[in-house]
Amino acid sequence: MFDTLKLKIFGRRKIPGTRIDADAEKTAKPSHFYLNSYYSEEIVCRDCGTLFIHTAKDKRSFFEEEKGNIYRRFVRCRACDEIKHPERYPT
Ligand SMILES: [Zn+2]
Repeated sequence: MFDTLKLKIFGRRKIPGTRIDADAEKTAKPSHFYLNSYYSEEIVCRDCGTLFIHTAKDKRSFFEEEKGNIYRRFVRCRACDEIKHPERYPT
């Protein structure tokens, strides 16, 4: 019940039990901020309202393998994100 409310208010909810450790050595390197863990999250797409799951593994690969912007928070589903930010998806 509380979790559902949180999902409605914040548009996202951590899925318990999905934590994996981050390797700060592998992420892009801002000086004063680092990630120490990833959780899978349920996210309500800001644009189309679809509920999708962004998995901890996907986050790790985005931040550690693709060296994605460490401050980026995922707020849109893939389809809407492609429309909003086509530069992120070079063909
Ligand atoms: Zn969407």
